[in-house]
Amino acid sequence: MTDSANWMGFTGSPLDRADPLRSDPAAVQAARLNPMARYLILEDLKPLMTEDGQDLYWARRSEAPQGTSVFLGVAPDGSPRFAVDGKADDDIPAKATDARAAGATLGDGRAEIVAQARSLLDWHRRHGFCASCGAPTTVVKGGYSRLCEGCGVEHFPRIDPVVIMVPERNDRILLGRGANFPNGFFSAFAGFVEPGESIEEAVARELYEEAGIAVSNIRFGASQPWPFPCSLMLGAFASAHSDEFHLDEKEIAEARWITRAEARAALQGETEWKVPPPLAIAHWLIATWAANGDD
Ligand SMILES: [Zn+2]
Repeated sequence: MTDSANWMGFTGSPLDRADPLRSDPAAVQAARLNPMARYLILEDLKPLMTEDGQDLYWARRSEAPQGTSVFLGVAPDGSPRFAVDGKADDDIPAKATDARAAGATLGDGRAEIVAQARSLLDWHRRHGFCASCGAPTTVVKGGYSRLCEGCGVEHFPRIDPVVIMVPERNDRILLGRGANFPNGFFSAFAGFVEPGESIEEAVARELYEEAGIAVSNIRFGASQPWPFPCSLMLGAFASAHSDEFHLDEKEIAEARWITRAEARAALQGETEWKVPPPLAIAHWLIATWAANGDD
């Protein structure tokens, strides 16, 4: 296996999410006031990183702005960690960084903290009012739900499952170029899971809709949180029944079958056409398939 077949961006957090603590309002408040507590500030959903761009900037309570804050968990050193939505003082030695760039830079579990913080704070921004009765909602359980002040319904953070998959046949996989992708950029096929649908059914439906190919023998590969804003990517492999494909050109501009040798070359950046960077689970799917072959 290559390194890129092992690493999955936005996963591997070192934090203990400490669910029992977040269910206890007094314990959450005590954690906020703990002198060891540290806060990850997100400005317009961009996490603050240290000025050298190599690490998250963990602010002290005195540096944290007012704003929605959520409990992220407890670090291995015992310090409670929070994320807060707000604007940091200009004299803090840190800079707001695009979450994708942060995820690509932080080559370990710190990127999952970014995903957790960004998805939760984005959800809070958009759910100030109850979807049932329209009354205001308030943050409870350390930020893991909102309670309606009108009808008492509890609302939970949204997660949108997305299937992403590569069909394979005769030691080749089919990659597609999305209609909105640049020329020469090929990736796995993907789409949202619909209500009342299994992962396997979503994989088969999306491949049939986008590429006109029938598949079976669908195997789950790995998953990845993708916090833009709250997707959960479900990576899979599937066996295609034919080499022929018929693209939905509104979605997919072109597609090509590639061999393992071609996939390896593309992952190394040695081809004129490109595949997604290591941060994306599509890269993991292609790399895993390329690394596990017999040839
Ligand atoms: Zn309500």
